[in-house]
Amino acid sequence: MTGRLQVCEPQTEVEKHTHAILKLSSGRELRFVDPRRFGRLSVARTAGFDAEGIEPLEIDLDRFLRLFRGRKTPIKSALLNQKLLRGVGNIYADESLFRAGIRPRRRAATITRDQLARLRTSIKEVLNEAIALGGSSISDYVDADGEEGFFQLQHRVYGREGEACLVCKTPVKRIVIAGRGSHYCPKCQK
Ligand SMILES: [Zn+2]
Repeated sequence: MTGRLQVCEPQTEVEKHTHAILKLSSGRELRFVDPRRFGRLSVARTAGFDAEGIEPLEIDLDRFLRLFRGRKTPIKSALLNQKLLRGVGNIYADESLFRAGIRPRRRAATITRDQLARLRTSIKEVLNEAIALGGSSISDYVDADGEEGFFQLQHRVYGREGEACLVCKTPVKRIVIAGRGSHYCPKCQK
């Protein structure tokens, strides 16, 4: 209803009615502009960002392996579970699983240590690339609904249903897991 948030470079002229300027770790600024002064700024933890989840860029291998031990849910659902890992949204989960060669429907507990190690590396790669493309911090990975919003990776499987896999040319498949569209290559991912 009132006010808006703006992400800009620090040298950008400060607009009239800017009531708050937050420094982002990228060096850019998040500014709150509200001419009518009806807006309010508060800091809150939303359900999607449960404190239990671990930052995927910080997690060590042992802890990562433990997250999935004995878990019978599909690996894709486990990746989206914000109580396990924070900030891995639908697109990043699909892209990470593709790079790691793991099918989204595989039961988490059946995935080998080596594959999980590869998955951990893939998640970090994907998130780091996303950050390099314009994100600035963990909070930029996903918006309040758990969707990646700020910037787009070059997708290898996500949103490419029926198109040729970039590695082997097999058509990319789309299935639904826990209500979310999940994309994978039936040949590259086991
Ligand atoms: Zn393929």
